Amino acid sequence: MLNEKIALHTPGPTPIPPQVTAAMMQPMINHRGAAFTQIYRDVATKLQAVFQTQEQVYVLAGSGSAGWETAMVNFVPAGAKVLNIVIGDFGERWVKANRALGYQVERLDYHIGTAARPEEVDALLKKHEGTIQAVCLQHNETSTGVSNPVREIAAVVAQHGALVLVDAVSSLGALPLPMDEWGLDVVFTGSQKALMCPPGLMMIAASQKAWEKAKEANAPRFFFDLKEHRAGFEKGQTPQTPALSLYYGLQAALQMMEEEGIEQGQQRHRLMGEMCRAGAQAAGLELLCQEEGFASNTLTAIKVPQGIEASTFRKVARKSFGVELAGGQGKIMKDMIFRIGHMGYVTPNDVLVALAAVENSLTVLGYTLQVGSAVAAAQRVWLRYARESK
Ligand code: PLP
Repeated sequence: MLNEKIALHTPGPTPIPPQVTAAMMQPMINHRGAAFTQIYRDVATKLQAVFQTQEQVYVLAGSGSAGWETAMVNFVPAGAKVLNIVIGDFGERWVKANRALGYQVERLDYHIGTAARPEEVDALLKKHEGTIQAVCLQHNETSTGVSNPVREIAAVVAQHGALVLVDAVSSLGALPLPMDEWGLDVVFTGSQKALMCPPGLMMIAASQKAWEKAKEANAPRFFFDLKEHRAGFEKGQTPQTPALSLYYGLQAALQMMEEEGIEQGQQRHRLMGEMCRAGAQAAGLELLCQEEGFASNTLTAIKVPQGIEASTFRKVARKSFGVELAGGQGKIMKDMIFRIGHMGYVTPNDVLVALAAVENSLTVLGYTLQVGSAVAAAQRVWLRYARESK
């Protein structure tokens, strides 16, 4: 197997289109000049279409985790009580971030593989009536492959006057998340997932209601101070030196997304999610998320069959069949699941390849399945979509 020809199916970083790689090779420019202002404005406008918002979207150097900190320190007063909805490892990490930042954290936990229930969020907010200032949740929990019903939760949160802060790191650009229509107060994402770029940029937007609350936000901040970014944007500048090469790449990626169309991109992700789930089930494998309506369309978490060692399985998939799969995160899930990423610069053809590698690797390791069953089931889903879209 050619070492360099590995199909990357981790749920971030994700594969990068050649157009993005080529764009990033452009020479450096004066970041205080007109050429950068033009790129910044173009990127910001294109991002508004992806966020589906009229609000300004800001681009900061940093990975997705920077979104947690930026959302909190700019829009929630220091030491305030907040509710963290935890359905997996990234929910857990946001709790850690909020505690480190000095917030009082109430939590609502769910079993791995399940999504949050809006009525339970409502009940908890009633119990703490008027004291919880923000509700923090993942749109898509990357560690379990589950998507939360953000629209319904946001409607509940609004009734209680709190802000809803949404981590859309592994969903924005792939799953529907119309920020303005759903009344979301803060939405942020990272460059290395559905946006088809390398890691290193975090993008964030906030509602008018959040900006109103920002007047009371007194948490210490400097690099992540969005007021500075807002003031800079008026002049077409960023407060610090922008990560120029990543901006070039992001501009190229957003151009491609615009050409595909936001809804068509979401439809492609729906198709790939369905193909992957149908394939896994046809091969007799168990999905971690048993609720079809909440299963993620950007990645699929699958239980490793009894008797198969998770890390050996992934090694065989990589070494013998050229596909890089992701393992489970955290103590409980490490040996329990594997994950197939299908987001960003990924096509239904790539999903067939990933499923073939899963079938081959399990067969080599002695698991009994009908070779071709997963691929055939995925093909049938694809054919159905193709017929329906005619
Ligand atoms: N939130 C979610 C849902 C994620 O999937 C990730 C990373 O995979 C993060 C936050 C953290 O992002 P990063 O690792 O880029 O800091």
